[in-house]
Amino acid sequence: MDFEKMKDSIENGAGDVFKRTEEFISTSKLNFKISDREQKIEDLYLKIGKKIYKKYDEKSPIEGYIIKDCKDIKRIQDEIEIIKNKILTLENKGLCSKCGNEIQKKDTFCPFCGLKQKK
Ligand SMILES: [Zn+2]
Repeated sequence: MDFEKMKDSIENGAGDVFKRTEEFISTSKLNFKISDREQKIEDLYLKIGKKIYKKYDEKSPIEGYIIKDCKDIKRIQDEIEIIKNKILTLENKGLCSKCGNEIQKKDTFCPFCGLKQKK
């Protein structure tokens, strides 16, 4: 729970509370989706490790056997990127194309590296 945000939403007047609470709920849901996918990746890492050991133990070749799992990890990582971008959009944020730091959509220049932002 991000209590700073809840506090902000309370302090920002009643009219704004509903919108901000909705935004907070959406962001929490998306963050939950990210954790869920990160857990899936961890499970796949474990599965790959077990498969490799099994092959090793059977004195079988390992190559090619784990490509599918690796592709699954890549796919889930791409999903996480998409969800993270959704959260940034909800929070009116973006990523600087030069340094990759989170910046506010309204920033003309990146506060970290100074790059002029395209509008
Ligand atoms: Zn930057």
